[in-house]
Amino acid sequence: MSETSPKLRAELDGIPTYKPGKPAAAGADGPTAFKLSSNENPYPPLPGVMESAVAAASAFNRYPDMACTGLMNELSDRFGVPLSHLATGTGSVGVAQQLIQATAGPGDEVMYAWRSFEAYPIITRISGATPIQVPLTAGDVHDLDAMADAVNDRTRLIFVCNPNNPTGTVVHREELERFLDRVPSDVLVVLDEAYREFIRDTDVPDGLELYRSRPNVAVLRTFSKAYGLAGLRVGFAVAHEPVAAALRKTAVPFGVSQLAQDAAVASLRAEDELLGRVGSLVSERNRVYEGLLKQGWTVPPTQANFVWLRLGERTVDFATACEGAGVIVRPFPGEGVRVTVGECEANDVFLHTAEAFRAEM
Ligand SMILES: *Cc1c(COP(=O)(O)O)cnc(C)c1O
Repeated sequence: MSETSPKLRAELDGIPTYKPGKPAAAGADGPTAFKLSSNENPYPPLPGVMESAVAAASAFNRYPDMACTGLMNELSDRFGVPLSHLATGTGSVGVAQQLIQATAGPGDEVMYAWRSFEAYPIITRISGATPIQVPLTAGDVHDLDAMADAVNDRTRLIFVCNPNNPTGTVVHREELERFLDRVPSDVLVVLDEAYREFIRDTDVPDGLELYRSRPNVAVLRTFSKAYGLAGLRVGFAVAHEPVAAALRKTAVPFGVSQLAQDAAVASLRAEDELLGRVGSLVSERNRVYEGLLKQGWTVPPTQANFVWLRLGERTVDFATACEGAGVIVRPFPGEGVRVTVGECEANDVFLHTAEAFRAEM
């Protein structure tokens, strides 16, 4: 009897595996390790958020509310959108995957800038659709004109990551509106705003303003970054009715745990305090950015909670130097390093390391 393995879809062969940010090693005799590799919020959950999570834990024998009723109502009030325009999922990556499943399959194209969020090629290929990667400009910004030029009758979905992960760069209102005007109305444009709360540049539009008058625009948001709930896996989309309804169809049943739902509601109710923390992180971001410029680095202006250093062939050496000093960063070998803005002490260690590295370049 010849042994054959189960037949798997050929599409899976080309899929890169998601590389999570390296955890901070518990250095026994080395320096304290800070994890600046996953764009997480360095603050622990607020007391009220912890209490809601602990309370939800007493009902772990039950399935969660599949419709996420409490969270949906809270989101509807907070953002002024009808319930029928909302859909939740297991992190905004989960919702992004649902969006692709709802729009694209073999023979269809999903477009995004490159380099951008590394989940995009993975979830595109899983669906069997073809990824179309449009290079960033020399300034590491989305090339929206080139993206509009690349649209054809196979294009089903376009991600615009604003600010872009991993470069931190933004697209502004005027260019984004010009782009949206050029994209056919039967192509879904997904504005991935995972870092929305960190934006201080007033020329960056809030995707929710753009979606209102454009039925082919969907906005992705997450509780993982500014709201500090990365470990709970909850995100949401705001989209017009046929798209939002399709998202509810493609959701994994009971995907968002009750703990995640309740913690997300508690976070929205503690928003002032949470956004105060975001304000501190923005100050730290500006300090890190200015510090790097003073050291002579070329850094694209960032509106997110991270900075991007295009180090090319020196990328891995730089990441190794940071690790030796006690900060874990996120290298993209041959391209650059993304460094999350963390607690002040971590940012100081990073700045010192960058300065020393630069002195030897
Ligand atoms: C972190 C991130 C997300 C959010 O991921 P979750 O699944 O919500 O944790 C989405 N998009 C981008 C671009 C991100 O960087």
